[in-house]
Amino acid sequence: MKLYYDLHIHSALSPCGDKDMTPNNIVNMSIIKGLDIIAVADHNSCGNVRAVMQVAGDRLLVIPAMEVETSEEVHMVCYFPCIEACEEMDVFIKEHMSGVKNQAEIFGEQLYMDSEDNIIGKEENLLVTATDLDIFQVSEKTREFGGVAVPAHIDRSSYSVLSNLGFIPPELVVGTVEITAKNRAKMEKEYEKKYNVISNSDAHYLEDIAEPEFYINIMSKSAEKVIEYLCKR
Ligand SMILES: [Zn+2]
Ligand SMILES: [Zn+2]
Repeated sequence: MKLYYDLHIHSALSPCGDKDMTPNNIVNMSIIKGLDIIAVADHNSCGNVRAVMQVAGDRLLVIPAMEVETSEEVHMVCYFPCIEACEEMDVFIKEHMSGVKNQAEIFGEQLYMDSEDNIIGKEENLLVTATDLDIFQVSEKTREFGGVAVPAHIDRSSYSVLSNLGFIPPELVVGTVEITAKNRAKMEKEYEKKYNVISNSDAHYLEDIAEPEFYINIMSKSAEKVIEYLCKR
């Protein structure tokens, strides 16, 4: 079945994410847009994913995720088959962060929300920092939890595997790469030979959530099948 997706959306937990990126707003906007599958992937955290999944219920498939920053300052979007695995990864990631405190007036607030969009807490440590885990460790740990790590926005001039390492290390286990929609046409031919290519919004504002433009073709609408697709097994 053809399923339209946006697998890289930030919530208000990301300091750069708009305050309106609440669980209900994200889910409702995604449904209005006509998407079938989304993932909320905040920087180094999945603290709002459970609330987003509660809001979505059966109306929208939400893949548990987070966007991890490696020690090389490469962004990897890590996807998991269930929220429990994702939250275990979250605990692991927190042990590998610098402990630098957020300065909300400079970077923005990092808000935890419940399924009714109430603010239930604020993250004190700055989430947009590099962990001390390299790209291989992030990929391997994600796989240990049954998930898959996807190099994010590889076409960008910062925080990407190509900008920071110059190439995708051949020994890195990669099934899928993310290419920004605007650069997809010119890059996908080269990368499609080896990987699945996905394009997501990386939305920090509601209006930027993707239109139903890109889809994946999988047997059934489940997190397991999406993970399987991203692994390109
Ligand atoms: Zn990123
Ligand atoms: Zn992002």
